[in-house]
Amino acid sequence: MAQSIAPPSTGTPTAVPAPLPVRTILPWAVFFGLLTLIALYFVGAEQGATSVFAGTGVHEWVHDGRHLLGFPCH
Ligand SMILES: [Zn+2]
Repeated sequence: MAQSIAPPSTGTPTAVPAPLPVRTILPWAVFFGLLTLIALYFVGAEQGATSVFAGTGVHEWVHDGRHLLGFPCH
């Protein structure tokens, strides 16, 4: 017994999603990509010789995220 999955054609127009131009998305993709890389740096490498800020303040702020993502810590 074969059944058709497609709904019967009623003649009404269907909604077609508007195309998203790459030129519109690209600056936002670059911006959020940089934010992601900066956040990843502070979570994963802001410690010791590679630290930007002196002290352990940033490390303590992101410490749980560091362990959650599996970066070596202590
Ligand atoms: Zn730790």
